[in-house]
Amino acid sequence: MEQYTPPITKLIEELAKLPGIGRKSAQRLAFHILDMKGNDVVELAKAIVNAKKLTKHCKTCGNLTEGETCSICSNFKRDHSTICVVEDVRDIAAMERTKEYKGVYHVLHGTISPLDGIGPEDINIKNLVSRLNSEVTEVILATNPTIEGEATAVYISRLIKPMGIRTTRIAHGIPIGGDIEYADEVTLMRAMEGRRDM
Ligand SMILES: [Zn+2]
Repeated sequence: MEQYTPPITKLIEELAKLPGIGRKSAQRLAFHILDMKGNDVVELAKAIVNAKKLTKHCKTCGNLTEGETCSICSNFKRDHSTICVVEDVRDIAAMERTKEYKGVYHVLHGTISPLDGIGPEDINIKNLVSRLNSEVTEVILATNPTIEGEATAVYISRLIKPMGIRTTRIAHGIPIGGDIEYADEVTLMRAMEGRRDM
């Protein structure tokens, strides 16, 4: 490995920890940063620190927010009787792009995965159950069509159904093993329209 000064080596090491960034890309980025104007480097560093510092999880749904409650939960024009359960906050952005869904969300921040030692108590299920008041009439399970996503949907539906709330699963216009985050709007819209009772 080439010998760089300790600060440059440190920068390369930190950048290489980012997903999709190999050693070579990390070096290229580090040298790009060294070539940037001092002011732009400060702005970049500030943006990283601020995004982390000023971002919280919505108390109600687990979506990302700056305040206590996210913009979707605090919007009274949304249909608060329908809750769409997703694995990840990025899935909300994908659903919102369809412009079809008017309900609210619940983010699990993961899936049940016994092989990885992740049980129901390790993801955001307890908060979901506590949200199910008399106002809620439908819970749409929009976890990914993977083994873990399916298992999680089945677990939640068994938990919720006895409460007399309609529990639906989105249709699989989304390919098996696919990712909701990367699904196009039409596929996602069809999947929502074709949802079935569980
Ligand atoms: Zn929220």
